[in-house]
Amino acid sequence: MARASYDVAVVGAGIIGCGCALELAGGGRSVVVLESSGVASDTSCRAMGHVGVYDDSPAQFSLSRFGVECWNSLAPDLPPEVDYVRRGALWIAADESEMADVEAKLGRYRAAGVEAHVVDGRELRRMEPQLAPDLPGALWVPGDIVLDAAEATRFLADRARSLGAELRIPSRVRSLTEDGPRLDDGRVVRAEFTVLAAGWRAPELLPGLDIRPRKGHIAMLAPPAGFVHHQLSEVGYVRGSQPGVADVISFSLQPRSSGRCLLGATRQYVGPSTEVDPTVIRRLLERARRFVPAIGDVPVERTWTGLRPAGARGVPYIGPVADHPRWILAAAHEGIGITTAIATGRLVTSIVAGTPPAIPLEPFRPGPEPGPG
Ligand SMILES: Cc1cc2nc3c(=O)[nH]c(=O)nc-3n(C[C@H](O)[C@H](O)[C@H](O)COP(=O)(O)OP(=O)(O)OC[C@H]3O[C@@H](n4cnc5c(N)ncnc54)[C@H](O)[C@@H]3O)c2cc1C
Repeated sequence: MARASYDVAVVGAGIIGCGCALELAGGGRSVVVLESSGVASDTSCRAMGHVGVYDDSPAQFSLSRFGVECWNSLAPDLPPEVDYVRRGALWIAADESEMADVEAKLGRYRAAGVEAHVVDGRELRRMEPQLAPDLPGALWVPGDIVLDAAEATRFLADRARSLGAELRIPSRVRSLTEDGPRLDDGRVVRAEFTVLAAGWRAPELLPGLDIRPRKGHIAMLAPPAGFVHHQLSEVGYVRGSQPGVADVISFSLQPRSSGRCLLGATRQYVGPSTEVDPTVIRRLLERARRFVPAIGDVPVERTWTGLRPAGARGVPYIGPVADHPRWILAAAHEGIGITTAIATGRLVTSIVAGTPPAIPLEPFRPGPEPGPG
């Protein structure tokens, strides 16, 4: 039976909303999740699943490192379908000049106490024989994880439910009020705090919020058994993820336990359409051939796209909305939302509880721009 009011209403059951619901319910709060479509029905079911430490800014570094720790803390409880595997990541230099990026990355990881090692071209090919023979080396980060993003989201939702969170699906939120979210039918779901975790659609409820859909294409490949073993990404990938870069095709290849591999990653600001553009898929495969020449012979089983929720500052927004201290924004996770979902939930829980956060919140505090819906 539905309650008359809740401590917290969470808008959105993507991985961020589910991570928040899990942590809030685990912290003893009464929680309702309002979702218009379904658990993991938008970006969180269209992502790759690299749960890794990302170093494109100090803020992302601290949040993603915390994110990896959070997933590791849940690892013993994860069911097989989440396909959590500590594969480690190789950040590969495309040429000698990019070895400077590899060294700089090594310095940042080591300074923060994250295990990382430079491997030369010979060692790289021993680890991954399919890589092109002229690649000069890579950074090896053994602690990075690969998992299935959609299954991981469903796991977080189920766990939140088992801790007492109520999931109301379908329930589309039309606007936010000081008493709680207002649904399409006009009813207000009463809650002391509202967490806005609506992904790229968050500006529909907070007009003026600077989050845009950033489209990414993925190809699912059906390679021969044991084709690659680690999460492979080009070291230049991070430069392409900066918010100002308009059109990016970079190499990222992710093996799954099923034997399939996911190939990404592209970034485009082309609105909310999720239509697959065959030209982009062709360019993605071309870029991949630079790193894995045999990829040209591997069948492409399926292609799709997803919309990353990209904020103008290049870091997620986690914190109270200006002038609305009981509306907490948890959005704009761009390409690191799978990594940072539980971490975001823990930070949101500390905001609601008024307890010290596990990492400094300042870089993630929403600006004064968003106004009431
Ligand atoms: C191609 C691609 C590859 C990626 N790879 C990785 C990766 O390897 N590692 C990583 O960490 N991240 C990755 N990401 C990023 C990650 O997928 C996103 O950051 C994350 O999924 C965002 O989750 P979310 O919950 O904010 O959004 P969503 O998953 O979009 O969830 C938002 C939910 O809110 C609901 N909603 C919206 N409006 C309303 C409303 N008015 N009322 C009720 N419900 C509403 C929607 O229906 C939806 O279910 C990738 C993304 C893409 C596109």
